Amino acid sequence: MSAPLRIGHGYDIHRTVAGRPLVLGGVKFDSPFGLDGHSDADALTHAICDALLGAAGLPDIGHFFPNTDPAYKNIDSQLLLQRVVAALRERGWAPANIDATLIAEQPKLAPRLAEMKTVLARSAGLAVDAIGLKATTNEGSDDIGRGLAIAAHAVALIQKV
Ligand code: MG
Repeated sequence: MSAPLRIGHGYDIHRTVAGRPLVLGGVKFDSPFGLDGHSDADALTHAICDALLGAAGLPDIGHFFPNTDPAYKNIDSQLLLQRVVAALRERGWAPANIDATLIAEQPKLAPRLAEMKTVLARSAGLAVDAIGLKATTNEGSDDIGRGLAIAAHAVALIQKV
């Protein structure tokens, strides 16, 4: 018999690029750069999707939403998160809580954390206080520190429903 609770981990990184909108946690930032990717490249939401899928023992979002499929070109990653939660529910699981860390040198993320939490909570079917979200920089080190990429880590607990 499997435990009624499961934990999962997710990680994602996308390179910064001029001429694309910057979307993190479903929130659009006023920024001279965005993130490169097939979808809206929302690294935070992708890390959360992978944490949820991992908790359920399922393959990663690349498996469910391949970047070779034109259906997912520029897609809003909140739709992907909603589909991940639906896939979990079909298997008898629901998110219990999510905790995530965004790593970016620019822009300043702290003023928008509450907004991101609200959007993510809605997509995941959770209360806002079941979403933890922190932002940090890489202190100028490596590609993230030089502003060449933005990354996110996430853990998620899921429960039997
Ligand atoms: Mg991604």
